[in-house]
Amino acid sequence: MTINEKTFWLETVEIPTPAARDFPQQVDVAVIGAGFTGLSAARSLARGGASVAVFDAQTIGWGASSRNGGMVLTGLKLPASTLIARYGKEATARMYAASLESIDFVEKLVREENIACDFARCGHLEVACKAKHFDDFRRSAEATARDFGHRQRLIPPDRLQSEIGSAIYHGGLVDDSSAGVNPARLVAGLASAAERAGATIFEHSHVDEVQREGARGWKIATQRGTLRAQNVVVATSGYTSRVTPALHMKIIPIGSYIIVTEVLPEKLAAELSPRNRMIFDSKNYLYYYRLTPDRRMLFGGRAAFFPETSSTIRRSAEILRSGMLTVYPQLRDAKIEYVWGGTLDFAFDIMPHAGQLDGLHFSLGYAGHGVAMSTYLGDKIAHSILQARNGDGGRVKNSRPDENPFAQIPFPSAPLNLYNGRPWFLPFAGAWYKLLDWLT
Ligand SMILES: Cc1cc2nc3c(=O)[nH]c(=O)nc-3n(C[C@H](O)[C@H](O)[C@H](O)COP(=O)(O)OP(=O)(O)OC[C@H]3O[C@@H](n4cnc5c(N)ncnc54)[C@H](O)[C@@H]3O)c2cc1C
Repeated sequence: MTINEKTFWLETVEIPTPAARDFPQQVDVAVIGAGFTGLSAARSLARGGASVAVFDAQTIGWGASSRNGGMVLTGLKLPASTLIARYGKEATARMYAASLESIDFVEKLVREENIACDFARCGHLEVACKAKHFDDFRRSAEATARDFGHRQRLIPPDRLQSEIGSAIYHGGLVDDSSAGVNPARLVAGLASAAERAGATIFEHSHVDEVQREGARGWKIATQRGTLRAQNVVVATSGYTSRVTPALHMKIIPIGSYIIVTEVLPEKLAAELSPRNRMIFDSKNYLYYYRLTPDRRMLFGGRAAFFPETSSTIRRSAEILRSGMLTVYPQLRDAKIEYVWGGTLDFAFDIMPHAGQLDGLHFSLGYAGHGVAMSTYLGDKIAHSILQARNGDGGRVKNSRPDENPFAQIPFPSAPLNLYNGRPWFLPFAGAWYKLLDWLT
């Protein structure tokens, strides 16, 4: 196979080059990371009247924001029953509502900022790998309707053909509120929107050190120079490092990989995914897949648990192709044209977290469920900063930081503190999840 080891989505858009600006001495808010979280925060902060500088070690959208599957999904990574057992019905209902609101937020942002990113409410389909997983779907759909007032539809095995051209599953669950997007176009549009609002973006500007300077704020040393900021937003997701040590120890970086085929004939594409859904399966070690807007099959999974290197990417191409053929034998002759990897950010409780730690504002822990949530929580963090700055919310419209339910849950560290930011346990975790998939 000759495969481009690059992100397909980046072939479909020109990522904007930020306007040249003098390096600032002082800003109200410094944002670390120019992905969905950082750019969404920067846009809202600048719209609220704050001076904002965004720093990325690489380029706009270089991280997970341009590398993901573009699935804009309802719900959280963990099933509702686990969330209710852990946080109670009320708190879970608020978090679930936030997941729905996050999709509305992205839809509105795309419309307001006129971002051509193929955002479409095509819905998602979760497919059951075992008959008992379909029973779980039934219980989950009943609970979601009863406890959160949100409707999902069960698709019994004998009707699954209307949703997917694969014979290996035991039924499905459809949620029509989910959407699909071209993530590289979204992050490019968000960067332009943040700049239009007045934020400045500095690429190739690794933040090396963040130091508290009493009540005056922070001193930030970057590859390009040093500046002072009243507030700092950490938006580094799976690429969080020792620069912010407390967050580094709370986030596990996990690799996820994607292959993309050549453009498929119309008839074949319609057979594989008749309703053009965002599809994922019910395993822990799951596959996720969809058609791209130009009719390729995009097929992803946790083919290797470690973050991306040239060798994990190459190995993943083989593993994912074989997984794809198990689902869709019809694709045996389809050429694989692209493969890439990216890094996910898992907290130890597999939940998103957004709030303040040691005085730093942050939002991360999206666990592969972050396209909408990161964009939404970036805005929430921005509003909490603006509200604190302006006292009663002053000039800030729609400022509702209290409605960020993820600021109110505990953000755990590793059990027994057995983690220093190096995920030595990933091979064991990978084996554990494979075993769980076999047993459950
Ligand atoms: C392969 C893959 C598939 C995925 N699929 C989906 C999906 O289909 N649906 C979904 O909802 N989610 C998905 N996700 C998750 C989603 O992409 C992320 O949750 C989301 O993009 C996180 O955005 P972010 O802005 O927080 O982080 P990122 O986009 O990762 O940005 C972090 C940025 O921080 C920068 N940075 C780090 N340290 C520093 C420093 N010290 N100084 C300066 N800059 C720094 C990095 O260069 C990087 O650009 C997927 C992720 C991957 C990797």
